[in-house]
Amino acid sequence: MNDCIFCKIIAGEIPSAKVYEDDEVLMFKDIAPIAKIHILCVPKEHFAYLSELNAARAAWLGRTLKKIGKMKDELGLGDGYRLVINQGENAGQSVHHLHIHILGGETLPWGK
Ligand code: AMP
Repeated sequence: MNDCIFCKIIAGEIPSAKVYEDDEVLMFKDIAPIAKIHILCVPKEHFAYLSELNAARAAWLGRTLKKIGKMKDELGLGDGYRLVINQGENAGQSVHHLHIHILGGETLPWGK
């Protein structure tokens, strides 16, 4: 966990373009955006994989999905958005701290 780049961003040890923060979530701009708007949304409490959900983490995820929906206009996502969570190697997960990709700001092509 000490080597976790997202934990370092949460701790303020590595700079990020912060979009939103509260006591349980941080949202910041992806450093290599694949859409006009590409925000990463991470839990402040480290866990690596979607497959590691327990009741508390599932509750966090539910609250967070609701939060993103409520914030869609202020995030510039009023015309629609896509949420992606990559899990493991086949999905190309490169950072092992759970993160939700929030994509939008334009018409998004559909793909694998
Ligand atoms: P994933 O491939 O699902 O693990 O996504 C990891 C994402 O983190 C990629 O889209 C990267 O561009 C992004 N990323 C990696 N390092 C940083 C960073 N320091 N600040 C912002 N985004 C980052």
